Amino acid sequence: MKKILLLGSTGSIGKNVVNLAGMFPDHFKIVGLAVNSNTELLEEQVKMLNPQIVCITDPDKGADFARRFRGRLTVMTGDRGLEELAASSDADTLVNAVVGEVGLRPTYRALESGKDVLLANKETLVAGGHLIMPLAERMKRRIIPIDSEHSAVFQCLDGRSMDEVRRILLTASGGPFRDFDRQALLNVTREQALNHPRWKMGRKITVDSATLMNKGLEVIEAHWLFGLPYDRISVVVHPQSMIHSLVQFIDGSLLAQMGVTDMMIPISYAMAWPERLPLKHKYHLDMQTLEDLSFSRPDQDKFPCLRLAYEAGNHGGSAPVVLNSANEEAVALFLEGRLSFADIPVLIEEAVKKAVFNPAPDLDEIADISCEARIRVREAACDGRFVS
Ligand code: NDP
Ligand code: MG
Repeated sequence: MKKILLLGSTGSIGKNVVNLAGMFPDHFKIVGLAVNSNTELLEEQVKMLNPQIVCITDPDKGADFARRFRGRLTVMTGDRGLEELAASSDADTLVNAVVGEVGLRPTYRALESGKDVLLANKETLVAGGHLIMPLAERMKRRIIPIDSEHSAVFQCLDGRSMDEVRRILLTASGGPFRDFDRQALLNVTREQALNHPRWKMGRKITVDSATLMNKGLEVIEAHWLFGLPYDRISVVVHPQSMIHSLVQFIDGSLLAQMGVTDMMIPISYAMAWPERLPLKHKYHLDMQTLEDLSFSRPDQDKFPCLRLAYEAGNHGGSAPVVLNSANEEAVALFLEGRLSFADIPVLIEEAVKKAVFNPAPDLDEIADISCEARIRVREAACDGRFVS
């Protein structure tokens, strides 16, 4: 029985984790939940799961929830609450499914307090991989990927030595604008960007998938998880999203992990690892009805975010921190209708170029660097050069 703290329980990933815990009550007990502000759904989850502790980051919603549930369960609030919850002693596993860099510190605290981490929050490793991976090693704790590409690689590796690996290939659907030309990309709307052809996900990652920044963040995530240099991590566009990623070994063999495009499989694999859980028939891919599978190179000129992520990853230190925060802010502006789609990479590139480089930022320095990058993006977006 794994005792789980779940951060981001009201999100796209979080709800699947709750479903799985409900489907396999002998395997999992969710003892803590954290959300940003959706206390309506949190309340339903509290009634269903009966956790001991919850955290609501939004201070007003948190205070209100604490008043109503006084004496019945421990209610924490704010970013500090999120960290304290991650460090709480009642669990052995943290599932981190919040969106954004806010996930970094709780991951750190969970490892520090001796928990394994099942990681959906890719921003954790993008901003703080250099702190998180050594900490996991020191604490002898595992970080098990939930992201479908990294789960695929993890499943293909299956404990083999990395000495046998030539490279890994992360697949990308190419997003909704794969076949758009540059001119068409200038006019895409928020609604179009939020309409992913294959996956149903939260809003931020859906926009990241449209710009290919999601794949860029995943390249950096893979670098930290699997300890490979960037020239041994490739991206291949595979619009059908049936192959979730591949590993090429030194003898040339390629192992691929395939499955339906549903996060239940990688989430259940992470939760149950090293076992597998029996999932319903609808999760079983029928090869005989499969359409043609196709593969191509990503166009990094048309989608500069992927190039920017490789560059930031190779630069290391604070560069991915700036890339990630600038991206979070630019995507937020785009979703607010204050920035065009095509300007997202322009603002990110400018922020990365202007930032002061720090070769190994600690947690506090990451927060400062991130804050500066966000301000820079907001200011640049306001200076009139950018269309909305
Ligand atoms: P969603 O937007 O659907 O959900 C985000 C969750 O995080 C919500 O529960 C939200 O709470 C919570 N949250 C947001 N900000 C905070 C905060 N400051 N403090 C506490 N909780 C917070 O996102 P997804 O589920 O799509 O994605 C989550 C993470 O998983 C991301 O890093 C994403 O890149 C990654 N991922 C997602 C995949 C997917 O299929 N969705 C696939 C692979 C990776 P509230 O509801 O109250 O706002
Ligand atoms: Mg992914």
